[in-house]
Amino acid sequence: MPKKPPADNRKDNPMAYDPNNVFARILRGEIPCNRVYEDDFALAFHDLNPQAPVHVLVIPKGAYVSMDDFTADAPDALISGYMRAVGTVARQLGVTGSGYRLLANAGTDAGQEVPHLHIHIFAGRPLGPMLVR
Ligand code: AMP
Repeated sequence: MPKKPPADNRKDNPMAYDPNNVFARILRGEIPCNRVYEDDFALAFHDLNPQAPVHVLVIPKGAYVSMDDFTADAPDALISGYMRAVGTVARQLGVTGSGYRLLANAGTDAGQEVPHLHIHIFAGRPLGPMLVR
């Protein structure tokens, strides 16, 4: 099988990976975060501007913009480790009984602000309709 080009060289990728994006800087310890969980694959921290009583972001430890380049290019161990971390964080937050919502914005139409893959975990109240009507 031919080797895939790096994701940030793909013509259809609307956002290139910027190594100075705010989450990359958090991963390098250059700026602080309110950490919830960390392992070899992922870091989770409280969102700076929470949209629900619980609003935590889980990011992979790797230079990926969104779920599509992550699942195309990341090593299997990182993909499984990251997904396991999302579930671990939900359990650790104590929200699995009452329920929670996961959201991963990708690209312009989704309003992605930070070009480093992140899954939002929202919980702590009824979260309303899935999309703004
Ligand atoms: P998105 O629109 O999906 O890219 O979401 C980006 C999220 O990152 C927003 O909810 C912001 O409030 C959050 N955010 C931006 N900078 C920081 C930061 N330094 N620490 C924690 N959350 C942040």
